[in-house]
Amino acid sequence: MSMASQVIREWMGIQQFPPATQTKLLELLGKLKQENVNTLTILVMGKGGVGKSSTVNSIIGEKAVTVSTFQSEGPRPVMVSRSRAGFTLNIVDTPGLIEGGYVNYHAIQLIKRFLLNKTIDVLLYVDRLDVYRVDNLDKQITRAITDNFGEQIWKRALIVLTHAQLSLPDRLDYEVFCSKRSEALLKFVSPSTWMKKKDIQGSFVPVVLVENSGRCAKNENDEKVSQLPDNRIQCCFPRNVFY
Ligand code: GDP
Ligand code: MG
Repeated sequence: MSMASQVIREWMGIQQFPPATQTKLLELLGKLKQENVNTLTILVMGKGGVGKSSTVNSIIGEKAVTVSTFQSEGPRPVMVSRSRAGFTLNIVDTPGLIEGGYVNYHAIQLIKRFLLNKTIDVLLYVDRLDVYRVDNLDKQITRAITDNFGEQIWKRALIVLTHAQLSLPDRLDYEVFCSKRSEALLKFVSPSTWMKKKDIQGSFVPVVLVENSGRCAKNENDEKVSQLPDNRIQCCFPRNVFY
């Protein structure tokens, strides 16, 4: 089915968000429209089981894609489209890029083919916050993304770390943990050519903390917020995806 013949559903999920979030979200969509941006296409990629589909659902505020605890994911990319006040949001959920301990190059090819006539505005590279080590597989996936989608894709990327509402072992400071975890991942997402040394030092690819479960902390306006005191990195989805 071509894009033109597709009837895009009204973005009803917005109404699930607390009023404060709705107001800010609509403000943001208004700003984008002023800049003549009326479509935003988000690509979501990462390993299997890290919370990609849950994040898609959190962003639009609906159970639009299947979340599975035990089963592996569907083999194909899926695009969910919603429109609101003349603005269209497209989110492409994808199968995990790791299958049986190996990079799933077949999935990458499927994703590439799926994206052929689409322009990606934002890449959400999803992983879990509550993982203590990065390993060779992380390196291989980010390399595969770079090789297949071009290193420029990282300029439009956000690193999304799910399970952000975690309890840390004693004496581990949340803020320190978050920055160590981010840095470890960012090391792989720093192709030498387009990133200057100084950018690698600071996190040039923004890191967003996300808690998809109901455990997420909330502020006085009932908005989801992060555990970090200064809210430098936040998990109040879906607002920060649009920043
Ligand atoms: P995907 O394979 O990357 O699409 O991951 P899913 O979205 O299907 O999630 C896999 C499992 O992790 C499911 O049981 C989700 O409920 C759970 N999950 C996803 N995100 C979070 C999160 O932020 N916090 C918690 N506690 N569980 C999550
Ligand atoms: Mg999934």
